[in-house]
Amino acid sequence: MNFDTFGFHPRIAAGIAAAGYTSPTPIQNQAIPSVMQGSDLMGLAQTGTGKTAAFVLPILHKLLQGRQGGVRALIMAPTRELAEQTHEAIQALGSQTNLKSVSIYGGVGMQRQVNLLKHADIIVACPGRLLDHIRRQTVILSRVEMLVLDEADQMFDMGFLPDIRKILSYLPKANRQTLMFSATMPSQIRRLAEEILNNQVRVQVGNEAPADTVSHAFYPVAQHLKTALLLELLGNTGTEAVLIFTRTKHRAKQLGEKLAKAGFRSASLQGNLSQSRRLDAMNGFKSGKYQVLVATDIAARGIDVSNVSHVINYDMPSTPETYVHRIGRTGRATRHGEAFTLITGEDRQMVQAIHRAIGANVEQRTLKGFNYQASTPAVNRQNMSQTAQPQPAARQRTYRAAPQAAGRKNTGRQNRGDAKGAFAWVSAK
Ligand code: AMP
Repeated sequence: MNFDTFGFHPRIAAGIAAAGYTSPTPIQNQAIPSVMQGSDLMGLAQTGTGKTAAFVLPILHKLLQGRQGGVRALIMAPTRELAEQTHEAIQALGSQTNLKSVSIYGGVGMQRQVNLLKHADIIVACPGRLLDHIRRQTVILSRVEMLVLDEADQMFDMGFLPDIRKILSYLPKANRQTLMFSATMPSQIRRLAEEILNNQVRVQVGNEAPADTVSHAFYPVAQHLKTALLLELLGNTGTEAVLIFTRTKHRAKQLGEKLAKAGFRSASLQGNLSQSRRLDAMNGFKSGKYQVLVATDIAARGIDVSNVSHVINYDMPSTPETYVHRIGRTGRATRHGEAFTLITGEDRQMVQAIHRAIGANVEQRTLKGFNYQASTPAVNRQNMSQTAQPQPAARQRTYRAAPQAAGRKNTGRQNRGDAKGAFAWVSAK
């Protein structure tokens, strides 16, 4: 199937070609025909599935049809990063149109946004700042004919539902088409969907099974050796982008600093950062300035970096859905990604829950040459090969040589770029 079947306006078709998209993703195939027909839609899809284009393309098409002037489409997003990325997708896919999009979020000056709002056809906004503009009457929403709530579950998690309800009260009700996208379906989101969607069409992709372009593995390790094992894993990994998840902001910050000390080009992304440092971390990760980005789940929402080669769960996520969501950050489009999870004795239940959720057992691995018996953590990458060498007796007791790794020595830094060299890379699905 290709994009011709949807009957997009030639200017939109030209934008699709300019973006280099040749065939629609499953969520696009499922959602676009209904949205083009004017139906309200509930899309259960995670980031990485192509959900943004699934709503952006029909919006652009529809806005080219009617009378232009005023804000006619409003897209609500939970984070600045997601708002910015969606705005960029609109600019790319709408590059052959004269439609104007603006991204609206807090932490930056109002006046520039006020000026841009005067000429906007499409707004991509975080709820808080949009409400500010509504209260100051610097935005008029009475012509909105398409509304999208993107990552609705995340907006709910972040406490935005009251703001969203307020914003809804400023929008026209008649003739408005509403689309909701969510990675999960908690009851509050289900209720909101029932309230604001009329005769909704429901589409769902990839919510239970992880993207099949991702291989994953669990690495059992003692809590105090997590950083040492992570350093060892990173030392043997190719130089593409690595996204690491931690449970808390504090742990993300600490780990980012430890990795930088150990010689990695790393940054951390967590809620406490100033806007300029967030942008530096995001853009630096995108451009390759940082090879490693450490983030919490909330901070990482909306990260759209297509070259993420590895997702590493430094801490086990708290739900199987979050696991699937996290590893959806790698293996995008046709690329192949690897997802590693460091697991401790406390994670046993979650391991079982993930197996149930994905319908398969994730292979457990030990890293050849790593000293699982060490009592103190080794955190200095410069002396990793020394600190991580097991004692001969321990090697016999503890280590299981992975087939690919047999006969090869883990030489830490030397092995960078030879991702398959020192330990077995898992292809279990
Ligand atoms: P999303 O799930 O919307 O965040 O999209 C994930 C990534 O897939 C983005 O980098 C998009 O540019 C890309 N993408 C979306 N649709 C397609 C497509 N049909 N062909 C190739 N890449 C796509």
